[in-house]
Amino acid sequence: MPSHDVLIIGAGLAGQRAALSAAEAGASVAIVSKVHPVRSHSVAAAGGINAALNPEDTWESHAFDTVKGSDYLGDQDAIEIMCREAPDQILYLEHLGVTFHRNETGHLGTRAFGGASAARTYYVADITGHAILHVLYEQLMKRSEQIDRYEEWFTTDLLQDDEGRCTGAICRDLRNGALEVFNAKTTILASGGAGQVYKPTTNGLIVTGDGIAQAYRIGAKLMDMEMVQYHPTTLAGNGLLITEGARGEGAWLLNAEGDRFMETYAPNKFELASRDVVSRAEQTEINEGRGFPDGTVALDITKVPRRRTLEALREIVNIGRDFAGVDITREPIHIRPGMHYIMGGIKTDSDGETTISHLYAAGEVACVSVHGGNRLGANSLLDTLVFGRRSGAHAAARALQMPMPSTNASRVSDTEKQIAAIMNRPEGGRRIGAIKNELGETMNEYVAVFRDEEGLQKAHEIVRRLKEEAAVAAIDDRGSVFNQDVIAAIELGYMLDVAETIVVGALERRECRGAQWRIDYPGRNDEEWLKHIDISMNGADVPQVSFSPVTITRWQPEERTY
Ligand SMILES: Cc1cc2nc3c(=O)[nH]c(=O)nc-3n(C[C@H](O)[C@H](O)[C@H](O)COP(=O)(O)OP(=O)(O)OC[C@H]3O[C@@H](n4cnc5c(N)ncnc54)[C@H](O)[C@@H]3O)c2cc1C
Repeated sequence: MPSHDVLIIGAGLAGQRAALSAAEAGASVAIVSKVHPVRSHSVAAAGGINAALNPEDTWESHAFDTVKGSDYLGDQDAIEIMCREAPDQILYLEHLGVTFHRNETGHLGTRAFGGASAARTYYVADITGHAILHVLYEQLMKRSEQIDRYEEWFTTDLLQDDEGRCTGAICRDLRNGALEVFNAKTTILASGGAGQVYKPTTNGLIVTGDGIAQAYRIGAKLMDMEMVQYHPTTLAGNGLLITEGARGEGAWLLNAEGDRFMETYAPNKFELASRDVVSRAEQTEINEGRGFPDGTVALDITKVPRRRTLEALREIVNIGRDFAGVDITREPIHIRPGMHYIMGGIKTDSDGETTISHLYAAGEVACVSVHGGNRLGANSLLDTLVFGRRSGAHAAARALQMPMPSTNASRVSDTEKQIAAIMNRPEGGRRIGAIKNELGETMNEYVAVFRDEEGLQKAHEIVRRLKEEAAVAAIDDRGSVFNQDVIAAIELGYMLDVAETIVVGALERRECRGAQWRIDYPGRNDEEWLKHIDISMNGADVPQVSFSPVTITRWQPEERTY
């Protein structure tokens, strides 16, 4: 049975950063990923990572922008930590070999991003996540004596002892279907977001909310699940992302009448207002008939000098050409708001500790909360690194002071039975893919940029019905070698749990704040709703709602304009 001081589930940026910091602290580490680590979704991150590193910038300014961007729902103590530690993370990466852009004077160069009062986004063209992930992976390999990598292993369940402490997880080797208990003193979930709950989404097929659901199922609190970010610039149909870096470089948004409409919605920031503001503006233009017939508005990247686009935005040049048939250096491209990121997640403190003893969470799976109601672009990579590092260090320090738990290998038997039951389901019923599509389309219709009670109730009813259908949906592959059918069935269960908590949170919050825009409850209501919504499942498959205060350190809520 693999036994380690620290078990890390997920090998994206949060997981890899946590692994390195746990190893630096002297712990033995296992890092598990359902795909090869460099295929983790962090590889798709494009536009960059924020830090107040320029001498004329300050971490306080970065922190205020983040608090304001969060619509005052972010916890200011955690935001202060993130913004203070940001410059060190950039330098750490640069010293490891990340080839950040350099300006004409040879210094690290920045680009502007939405909701920021200074250009503080560090980047590698529009492949920033790719560049960082590969460099961190080299470091994992370099530390292979301390860090065991379990690549293409799928975690199915978290384990607890009789006192409720997390003692590791059950994982399935995708190559042959074997199940193993992974015994660990401390466990860090770094399994990413839940974009596939929506259709379309900018997120890849592997982003299915596994860790959020696994933690929820053993009683961990989730927080602010209703806060789902719609990114302003995604391609119609397939949801592919056109990075905010394009607007940072100077691209304009135009409606079908050729008007630069952001002047009306954000007269000081235009296209570089925060994402919730820009997405709502676009959706309003589309809903009021000023969009194009395909339900889009246009992003005009021809405002950026062609040479600069080819140098700094080359991936979206390829995306425009290959997926929309548009040369973005010569003509505007049609875009619309699309599901992109989940601000909510497993409730943690600023060392990554969840409400389950010895279980940590970091990265998009977690809600620290530094993003509150709306994440600023380029603050997520920062979140993964700062809180990945802190979780790894804290989990290692705790692990080094305690004995190894003694989990019985027979704990796999329940999971074995569940998987056998999925394999043996009789033919008939709906296909997994059909259920997943209905889920995604439902969420995208009723739990999107604008929401109301009627739509949310409808979404809840549909999710409950889909849960029943998913419980009997048959699969075709009954083999053990790379059986993605059985994994899809398990992931569908996770997605449905996550979807239900999003809908329940959205029904509960009766106000407009950040990404939660309730047209039936206009306006932000600080008196009643300046608080987090916590959701847990205790025993039955019914979400229980409770509330917790928002931490305010130095910035009192104000009216939010851009
Ligand atoms: C297209 C796109 C562009 C973006 N651009 C930016 C940007 O420029 N700047 C920015 O700040 N943010 C950006 N983001 C957001 C940011 O990339 C993500 O929030 C961040 O990378 C998430 O990192 P993570 O480590 O938490 O998770 P991920 O990178 O998603 O990693 C999750 C890991 O968990 C593993 N895993 C999941 N479930 C299981 C399981 N059951 N068993 C075993 N392993 C499992 C996966 O294999 C993977 O290794 C972008 C997002 C998208 C979609």
